[in-house]
Amino acid sequence: MDRADRLAAKLADRGLDGLLVTNLVNVRWLTGFSGSNGLALVGPAGQRLFLTDFRYLTQSAEQLDDGWAKEIAPEILAASAARVGPADGKVVRLGFDDASMSVKDHASLTSKLVEGVELVAAAGVVEDLRAIKDAGELDKIRAAAQLADAALTEVLGRGLAGRTERDVALDLEMTMRKAGAEAASFPPIIASGQHSALPHAEPRAVEIPKGTLVTIDWGAQLDGYASDCTRTYATGELDPRDREIYDLVLAAQLASLAAVKAGAGGREVDAVARDIITAAGHGEHFGHGLGHGVGAEVHEGPRLSQRSDSTLAPGQVVTVEPGVYVPGAVGVRIEDLAIVTDGEPEVLTGLSKDLQIIG
Ligand code: ZN
Ligand code: ZN
Repeated sequence: MDRADRLAAKLADRGLDGLLVTNLVNVRWLTGFSGSNGLALVGPAGQRLFLTDFRYLTQSAEQLDDGWAKEIAPEILAASAARVGPADGKVVRLGFDDASMSVKDHASLTSKLVEGVELVAAAGVVEDLRAIKDAGELDKIRAAAQLADAALTEVLGRGLAGRTERDVALDLEMTMRKAGAEAASFPPIIASGQHSALPHAEPRAVEIPKGTLVTIDWGAQLDGYASDCTRTYATGELDPRDREIYDLVLAAQLASLAAVKAGAGGREVDAVARDIITAAGHGEHFGHGLGHGVGAEVHEGPRLSQRSDSTLAPGQVVTVEPGVYVPGAVGVRIEDLAIVTDGEPEVLTGLSKDLQIIG
């Protein structure tokens, strides 16, 4: 079954007759189209329709296989509405992505639909399928992770202490691009000293001092797939308090990574790390979830957190990234990217987690 067939089967389970796929990441996953304006209509009755505007006439012909009927229209949403009608007088339940469609687009779509077509909120249908990667997707994520590892190794060779956080971030981004990445999968985080206590710190034009911790969170986007990793390094002899926090986060990371396997709950895996950090008195300093899925987007399902209702399944790719952030003092995060299997996870990050001094 190709992806559109798997989606159609899922729609039937949900009592939907069709789905309007408008989120471009989902459109790309489903059809292969990587342009900036396109939508796909799947079902009813085996219908596979792709719409884009005239700028993408050639690109869509190259990227989409013959299973898709292609149509060029100036207003693709309006044109899609004209392609859905009730069959045999029965009401058609047409799913749409309520998590990404704007209120304006929804109103315009509603006004164009013929009588007998009912719009049904159906966010997450494609995302649920995307959460489990096929072999080709796993290869792309492995390659993105390898590229990101190699780029950081090269950047660390130029040192950390005495450079600004911003300089290191730009260097890392440029090094990934030169190695073939389409982009950084998100702007790299380089956070040193007290600034490392901010989980999503923005790199500053401030020199990284000696004898401190530096958290580096980065990833590469390659061939439509993302990677995500975090390492924390020392720039010299550390305060014993910093060392202790590093060792705590590492212990929590190793234990929770070992708990990643098919059948484990997202909440359960999160609790493995959280219990270790809480027992050491730092529960309140670990304020985010343990991890998230990674694929076509750097943050996607499943979630590993206290509120997760996910159950891990083979072929999912997740991060395991506990952190301890002591406000005004220091922060440490260690993050690996891993493929869920029935046994031990396949860790895609190749960089050592032993605390290293990078001067
Ligand atoms: Zn990250
Ligand atoms: Zn992450």
